[in-house]
Amino acid sequence: MSAKILVVEDEEPLALLLQYNLESEGFSVDLIHHGDEVELNLEENLPNLIILDWMLPGVSGLELCRRIRANGKTSKIPIILLTARGEESDRIRGLSTGADDYVTKPFSVPELIARVKAVLRRANPKSIADMLTVGDLEMDRSSFRVKRGPREVRLGPTEFRLLEFLMQSPGRVYSRGQLLDSVWGQNVYVDERTVDVHIGRLRKALNRGKEKDPIRTVRGAGYSISIKTDAA
Ligand code: CA
Repeated sequence: MSAKILVVEDEEPLALLLQYNLESEGFSVDLIHHGDEVELNLEENLPNLIILDWMLPGVSGLELCRRIRANGKTSKIPIILLTARGEESDRIRGLSTGADDYVTKPFSVPELIARVKAVLRRANPKSIADMLTVGDLEMDRSSFRVKRGPREVRLGPTEFRLLEFLMQSPGRVYSRGQLLDSVWGQNVYVDERTVDVHIGRLRKALNRGKEKDPIRTVRGAGYSISIKTDAA
């Protein structure tokens, strides 16, 4: 299960940028552009986290924050409040206590995503620990399931462990020897080319059609799994 995030933001380009980047991180995203639509949406759809802009047409983000907290059905949903520069002051900080975190515009998207993950981790430590996500790849370690976007990826046990190991440190390059030690174990004698064979199988399972290969071969060094670097 990937966390569902409700983004309430009336600036369309920003809303789309957030949607794009959050989806690349494996979250599922709902967008709302008007403050008056939020409560109705929450009646039918409970997200795991809400990113809430303060200044909205209709009911303001701050008022929504209060109402969400006051409603027993939604009171536990973590909220990250987006505020524009200039609105930030001690008074504002005091008012925004209903939010779990707040971010001042303009902000960097990676920073916001890091805060989203931190808030989710605090709210639900177990589910986040079981889940690994890199780009559109999602691994649920408790059920041994891997998905690429909506597609279920079937992996053998070695490929699963290999992918799990790579996904724990996206971007980091591991030599074949390091992968052998970590995935196969230090006391097992396996030829380093075995790593290449399993990387090949893993790639075949992960990549279909035009999908971008998330595994990077670094010549003379080894392999890594790379995060998509997006507009931000
Ligand atoms: Ca706004």
